[in-house]
Amino acid sequence: MLKNKVALVTGSTSGIGLAYARALAGEGANIVINGFGKPEDIEKERASIEADFGVTCVYNGADMTKPDEIAAMVADVEKDLGGVDILVNNAGIQHVAPIEDFPVEKWDQIIAINLSSSFHTIRAALPGMKKKGWGRIINTASAHALVASPYKVAYVAAKHGIAGLVKTVALEVAEDGITVNAICPGYVWTPLVEEQIPDTMKARNMSEEEVKRDVLLAAQPTKAFVTVEQVAALAVFLCSDAASSITGTMLPMDGGWTAQ
Ligand code: NAD
Repeated sequence: MLKNKVALVTGSTSGIGLAYARALAGEGANIVINGFGKPEDIEKERASIEADFGVTCVYNGADMTKPDEIAAMVADVEKDLGGVDILVNNAGIQHVAPIEDFPVEKWDQIIAINLSSSFHTIRAALPGMKKKGWGRIINTASAHALVASPYKVAYVAAKHGIAGLVKTVALEVAEDGITVNAICPGYVWTPLVEEQIPDTMKARNMSEEEVKRDVLLAAQPTKAFVTVEQVAALAVFLCSDAASSITGTMLPMDGGWTAQ
């Protein structure tokens, strides 16, 4: 379905991003992966995408807190692969603390990675998409783009900001063959969730099992973590012709969380 398209997925060295990269490669798209990690691990993932799906996969290590590196990454994709057809803004981090104790630098970093980087990637990639008259922009937002939880002030603010970005850009490019949407997962079992357990244990004075049951899956009526493959499958659908009228949306995949 996506042969000859190029998909740039930010934050794709692990978790949901890696699942997007593999699912889009499975549809024939050439892939640009991005994110941090051990060079040997990243090279293993990159090579396995090429080997498993017979596509080209390159790695770009741009730091999503740095607008100049983001612009250079999009320029490199244009030069080397013919431009970004599918942009998946996925890089994200979390920090859990009450607002009075929330480190200012963590606020700045979360706003930069989880919100501003999407502004920078979109503004750089749009001219190329407009020229081709086709494009797909998909953001990984969160159920936290729709509702809040305590102790996650920067994350919730950034993800709500993504909703504004998505809706605005969708309107601006509505006649250009480009759709702009966000997927809003509930809790997906990835390193990001695993790593916030210790801080949540501290903030709420709970055991690991209590955090999983009473904090994470408490909000999720299905009592099951969303899988990275499920999130990636929705992204693939958003790239299909069947989804060409879906734009400006925040699509929950949260086991019923935001129905409450
Ligand atoms: P993850 O920690 O497995 O992946 C995060 C990715 O972002 C990694 O590849 C990491 O290297 C990259 N990254 C971090 N800082 C970066 C930077 N400065 N520049 C470039 N890349 C950077 O986490 P995940 O759970 O797969 O999260 C992916 C996205 O999904 C995030 O935006 C997150 O907010 C969102 N999300 C996750 C869940 C969940 O439950 N896991 C739920 C809803 C939304």
